[in-house]
Amino acid sequence: MTMQNEGTMLALRKAGPNPGLELSRVPMPAAPGEDEVIIEVAAAGVCGSDLHIEEWTSAYEFLTPHLPLTLGHEFSGRVSAIGPGVTGWKIGDAVAVKPSKACGGCPACRDSRPDDCSRRAALGIHKDGGFAPYVCAPVSQLLPLPDTLDPVLGALAEPLAVSGAAVEAGGVGPGDRVLVLGPGTIGQGAALLARRAGAAEVVIVGVNDGPRFAALAAMGFDKLVDLAEPGGKERLAELAGDGFDIAIEAAGAEAAVKTALTSLRLKGVMVAVGIHPEPPRTDLTMVARRQLQIRGSARGRHEVWVDVVNALATEPELFSHMVTHRMPLNQAAEAIEIGHRREASKILLLPGASA
Ligand SMILES: [Zn+2]
Ligand SMILES: [Zn+2]
Repeated sequence: MTMQNEGTMLALRKAGPNPGLELSRVPMPAAPGEDEVIIEVAAAGVCGSDLHIEEWTSAYEFLTPHLPLTLGHEFSGRVSAIGPGVTGWKIGDAVAVKPSKACGGCPACRDSRPDDCSRRAALGIHKDGGFAPYVCAPVSQLLPLPDTLDPVLGALAEPLAVSGAAVEAGGVGPGDRVLVLGPGTIGQGAALLARRAGAAEVVIVGVNDGPRFAALAAMGFDKLVDLAEPGGKERLAELAGDGFDIAIEAAGAEAAVKTALTSLRLKGVMVAVGIHPEPPRTDLTMVARRQLQIRGSARGRHEVWVDVVNALATEPELFSHMVTHRMPLNQAAEAIEIGHRREASKILLLPGASA
């Protein structure tokens, strides 16, 4: 134990089942238990779901029994204390954290299929997360970050694993023509990882998404269609030609689902990864007639995490374009506002910078 586990720390919390978030002082995490570590958080990303939780949309009412709660499920940092029984890790190790942990006791877990666990619990969703200087995490959830990678960028591993899972669910491979709907972090990651998987063409669609398109342009994407601009629809139709092989819906908007389904070729695949504030209406008759497939995706398998950490370590400059804001935790309210106004691409909160 090297950290002091007395006193309090600043944390961004959801206090109760109503709109808003609270920046408040909470006790430091207790000494880590069996198979746990304390992580000193280097960075924690503000996710679209944090914005939904702040607004308190129906998709997140399931959090109610877990409140009050420190949010932050996209984080990285360094091991600062090690609990009994932990081997293979030392203080100072840089890590990314898989926030979602299998229960260990359900039929899928007992059958050695933890990825199919139906009772997962996640840091920052069900338990205190990374919008604080320190967080307690089960050692099973750690991924080592290579020394060459700035630990701050490790906070991109979680959303990139979501993107990677969507690319995998769509079966993206060499030569595929891919449409990404929603140029936010998940869409950006999907575009990058689809290109990495060999896609011949990646077209990204948004609506009033200037700052996010700027990040994509910096990462070398030039087929960017803003449907809010005059001629956007026509441009998309032209780029679609006979239809895309795969559409990744990462916008969480009813209109984007429609655009995805109508832009696919016959027997094309739509991957649903966006979270919708309200359930969208979907033209399933068209899905039937055009023999489309809709596949859901939400979370990366361990192998996908390993893959995205490798990708981050190989091309850190490329991925760093995803981050437009790095802000201290005590500016969290402003960060949430910027997020709501869609002026940002990824916003990272740096708890260590707040002191
Ligand atoms: Zn997230
Ligand atoms: Zn389970």
